[in-house]
Amino acid sequence: MNSIEENLKQIRKTIPEEVTLVAVSKTKPVSDLLEAYQAGQRVFGENKIQEMTQKWEKMPKDISWHMIGHVQTNKVKYMAPYVDTIHAVDSLKLLKEINKQAIKNDRTINCLLQIKIAQEESKFGLDTTEAKSLLNSQEVKSFTNIKITGFMGMATFTEDIEQIKNEFNSIQLLFETLKTDHPTLKTLSIGMSGDYQLAIESGSTMVRIGSSIFGARNYSH
Ligand SMILES: *Cc1c(COP(=O)(O)O)cnc(C)c1O
Repeated sequence: MNSIEENLKQIRKTIPEEVTLVAVSKTKPVSDLLEAYQAGQRVFGENKIQEMTQKWEKMPKDISWHMIGHVQTNKVKYMAPYVDTIHAVDSLKLLKEINKQAIKNDRTINCLLQIKIAQEESKFGLDTTEAKSLLNSQEVKSFTNIKITGFMGMATFTEDIEQIKNEFNSIQLLFETLKTDHPTLKTLSIGMSGDYQLAIESGSTMVRIGSSIFGARNYSH
């Protein structure tokens, strides 16, 4: 197996410079994160708040921490002191709590709205109408300490490349359409180890890559 450093180098070669690489380090030990850090990586993604907080405590402080998993409202307070971006925001209730905790910490927290693009029945994510109504909501506009910086999506887990392309194209279209009226929308977070090249073809500005950097995970999260 290649080292984490070699994997990172290989991946960086294949993604344009303006695309942000989130190194998804969930389930991996701090020693692996340090190896990536020493290779220059500064953006890390985790999907469990407790695990991310423990890693944040141990790692150097010039890291951008991205929460990529589903977030329960009552757990927001634990990451509010340090989290940079929350990727899977899918309700007004959650935005409200993130804003409240961001105010308490005198910070601004970036939020991505998770858009449901997969044809498979997934529990999470907004449809087009719901995303638009959140972006246009007067209450959301009144939130002083959050910024809705873009959209996040996950394609169906399938070998069918055409289907993945269609799903990525649908979120790209929504993103490009709404950007005009909502200039804070800058980030399109699509693409994982198996499909990030297709995502970049569909305008991804942020890829979330785990196993291709750190190796396969022992158990699925
Ligand atoms: C685990 C995870 C990833 C990374 O998956 P890999 O296939 O290991 O690259 C990306 N996004 C989300 C939301 C994840 O949970």
